[in-house]
Amino acid sequence: MPLVDPFGRQVRDLRISITDRCNFRCTYCMPEEGMVWQPREELLTYEEIERIARICVQRWGFTGIRITGGEPTVRADLPALVEKLAALRPASGAGGRDVDLAMTTNGASLGLLAPALRRAGLRRITVSCDSLRPDRFASITHRNALHRVLDGIDAAVAAGFAPVKVNCVLMRGVNDDEIVDFAAFGRDRGVEVRFIEFMPLDAQGAWTAQTVVTYEEVVRTIDAVFPLEPVDRRGSHPAERLAYRDGGGTVGVIASVTRSFCSSCDRVRLTADGQFRNCLFAVHETDLRAILRGGGSDDDVAAAIEADVGRKWAGHTIGQVTFLRPDRSMSQIGG
Ligand code: SAM
Ligand code: SF4
Repeated sequence: MPLVDPFGRQVRDLRISITDRCNFRCTYCMPEEGMVWQPREELLTYEEIERIARICVQRWGFTGIRITGGEPTVRADLPALVEKLAALRPASGAGGRDVDLAMTTNGASLGLLAPALRRAGLRRITVSCDSLRPDRFASITHRNALHRVLDGIDAAVAAGFAPVKVNCVLMRGVNDDEIVDFAAFGRDRGVEVRFIEFMPLDAQGAWTAQTVVTYEEVVRTIDAVFPLEPVDRRGSHPAERLAYRDGGGTVGVIASVTRSFCSSCDRVRLTADGQFRNCLFAVHETDLRAILRGGGSDDDVAAAIEADVGRKWAGHTIGQVTFLRPDRSMSQIGG
């Protein structure tokens, strides 16, 4: 039976944050100092994560799971979790198909981890990288680690992940002069670069509408150098994809702010401490950890998820007076 929200959108995609910790400090995500990490005993165990994911896959035929964070690779024994999630199959009659298991990472540890993650059953990897200039990369992430991230992208390609995607958050006056460099990088390395519009989820509250580099601007800038054409309808995918007319691959823009994709949203989220969220920008959460640790049954967990999805709104209101910033920042929710 599908899980459907009040606006008729079928929920099929679960984003699981497995930790709020990170070895980087990207300015648009968390402050350089002073983050207070959740105590380890408050994080869901891999068994608890698997149980919630299994309910979503078996009951409602979820087709997508993405592991994220914080930085997922800082959590110990990550391939063990990947193996558990990769083994999930929908119950007969639930519809759906095998789960498309993906992960978003800052890439710094992929040089070591990519082959093990692939063997464990991870299908797709997205690596975040916001500058190709070592100094600028260091000032955005507060880590001198561009070489490790680039090695990580190569390691993911070598391990057989295809396509590897690279997420680049564009910020006005910070890295908006690297749009063409990133496009060329994607073409050269055979990876799909996806430019992300900066969203008001930074821990420091520095976001303003003026800091957003829009879809139109990205497409116009690339098209002037590498002519583009649209490839497909976006469907429920956040990225609008375009192809290089010369056959040089594809590029995407995740225009969460200027061309919101809420009307076709099919995703829900689980935070590292077991809170279920029906939207990235949700201001209410449902405490699934309390149900699990209080001895609740799978039916209890499923009922709580159904109730939360039953309250899902039509969409976020960024840029309007009604917009309320969630209490948690991106690294705490799971991007
Ligand atoms: N640590 C991993 C990483 O950086 O890929 C996974 C977690 S991170 C929160 C997930 C994605 O959210 C990354 O691609 C990151 O660039 C993006 N992100 C973080 N804060 C953002 C913001 N304020 N606006 C837009 N994207 C953001
Ligand atoms: Fe860490 Fe990812 Fe946030 Fe950067 S965007 S601070 S890598 S969680």
